[in-house]
Amino acid sequence: MSKLILQSVLFQGKTQDILISGKKFSKVLRSLSERDYENADVVNCKGLAIVPPFYNGHTHAAMTLLRGYADDMPLMKWLTEYVWPFEAKLTAKDIEIGSRLAVLEMIKSGTVFFSDMYWKREQTMKVVKEMGIRATIGVTFAENLMSSQQVEDNFKFLKDHRLESDRVKLAVMPHSIYTVGEKMFKRCAKVAREEGYVLHTHLSETLKEVKDCKKQYGGTPVEVLDKWGILNDNFVGAHCVHLSEKEMQTMAERGAAAILNPCSNLKLGSGIPKVNALLNSGVLVGLGTDGASSNNNLDMHEEMKLVSLLAKVEGKNGCAEAVPAGMALKLATANTAFAYGIPAGVIAEGFFADALLLDLKNERLNPLHDLESNWVYAADRSAIHSVICNGKFVMKNRHVDGEEDIVKEANACALKIAGRK
Ligand SMILES: [Zn+2]
Repeated sequence: MSKLILQSVLFQGKTQDILISGKKFSKVLRSLSERDYENADVVNCKGLAIVPPFYNGHTHAAMTLLRGYADDMPLMKWLTEYVWPFEAKLTAKDIEIGSRLAVLEMIKSGTVFFSDMYWKREQTMKVVKEMGIRATIGVTFAENLMSSQQVEDNFKFLKDHRLESDRVKLAVMPHSIYTVGEKMFKRCAKVAREEGYVLHTHLSETLKEVKDCKKQYGGTPVEVLDKWGILNDNFVGAHCVHLSEKEMQTMAERGAAAILNPCSNLKLGSGIPKVNALLNSGVLVGLGTDGASSNNNLDMHEEMKLVSLLAKVEGKNGCAEAVPAGMALKLATANTAFAYGIPAGVIAEGFFADALLLDLKNERLNPLHDLESNWVYAADRSAIHSVICNGKFVMKNRHVDGEEDIVKEANACALKIAGRK
């Protein structure tokens, strides 16, 4: 088994040596023994601090190709007049190129996992495997955008490709209650339950979605999905902006998780998720960025800071104590990993060896009264020196292999699709 030692790294206020054995953290000590050093690669981490990396609980990776293509319009107009027509032109190769740009951006901003709801999943899976991070890749269902043959192919794929890889897993992803009907939603949930997959969908993102759902099915999305037997402990809902306390209670009772995407919700004018109410109800809350065309980046640090700030102005009077720095960090790291069943996001023995090394010379991490506070409220991705996933460096000293070519190729590809070149 490979051994990697992070020597003299600042961890929770103390200088420590951290031993990574294979894919997992195996020891965190003031100093390791001679035996631990046998056959180990040693990295001197003086001047660096270790923190958990980010886990992006909801995105559409290849939509980086649409970054800046259509902005400043409401969700439905944006989807039907811009996004879906652009996406109809995307080839498998385009999706590979867009996913590569997304993974590069995520690594550089400290993210080692994403949950992806998109098309042509094989391309995204290939990119994730090559670039060394983790992902839960969706087998996506949207009846308005798929032929019945494609639907059957999707279900077959889920049966045939039961992946047991540490880094790349599949999930069943019916897009939303407004694009997938009762029969197909129930079939998706049945397959997810039987095959042990996470079931991920957009949930109560806009008031229009809730209103239309009430009109069509006589209840809110949460009420209807619960009535259909879909809310379970393998259920992960994205957005969860427009929920009543009763609906939050239902989600908590069923063990369902909520992934909040506050930047996207603000930008599309969809609303503000009720962070405190969700946390108080006992729902497992994580964070995601949503796609780069509605955010417009994949930087989880921004979500982490924003979710804390929004929580502080929730309700009539506001509360500065709401979602403190440590809690915001937990939502963006361990909580999101746990929502997807991944034992990671915690720097401790037995967890997957995923981590960020922060550069203590970065001006926003100084003065060093409180590293966690500086990291959450003051710093940004420029403080990230290196990124480790599954016991291996995926970014070392701010460099990712091939990054210049990835950016160049994505730009040329997107402009061609948009007819600008
Ligand atoms: Zn989304």
